[in-house]
Amino acid sequence: MSTTYNTAAVIGCKVPRTKIWIRKETRSCRHVVVDDNANFCPECGKKLWKTTDHCISQYDDYEGHFCYYRTIDGYRVFGTKEDDFVIIAAQFIKTDLYSGPQVMQIACPQDIPFIQKSFKKRLQQLDLWDENEFGIWVVMWCT
Ligand SMILES: [Zn+2]
Repeated sequence: MSTTYNTAAVIGCKVPRTKIWIRKETRSCRHVVVDDNANFCPECGKKLWKTTDHCISQYDDYEGHFCYYRTIDGYRVFGTKEDDFVIIAAQFIKTDLYSGPQVMQIACPQDIPFIQKSFKKRLQQLDLWDENEFGIWVVMWCT
């Protein structure tokens, strides 16, 4: 097993993880427990409550552990639910150790307001937009 170092340049928006993965406390079993202070089920012995993360419906986790394959509404997401935040990409270029140096202009400066306009509109609909967090980001990770 080897480590691959990845880097991406991203035009996008930084979003707190808690806006994508909503943390919920749910019951571990269906037994009726009358003691309000109980931590464990007297019937089956399980801990009464468990913490689970439910991602928003627009989040697509179709390739699991490769964070750059996740999307929200078609936009690539850089980062995982273990991170404090993720970067949602309007446009990006990604490279890794094996592909060598890459030079590519992902957008002309005059195109950025155009890119921002449609991206902002969609992220606002999903309550993920933050004007102060839109920009050009560099994301690095190991796989
Ligand atoms: Zn139980």
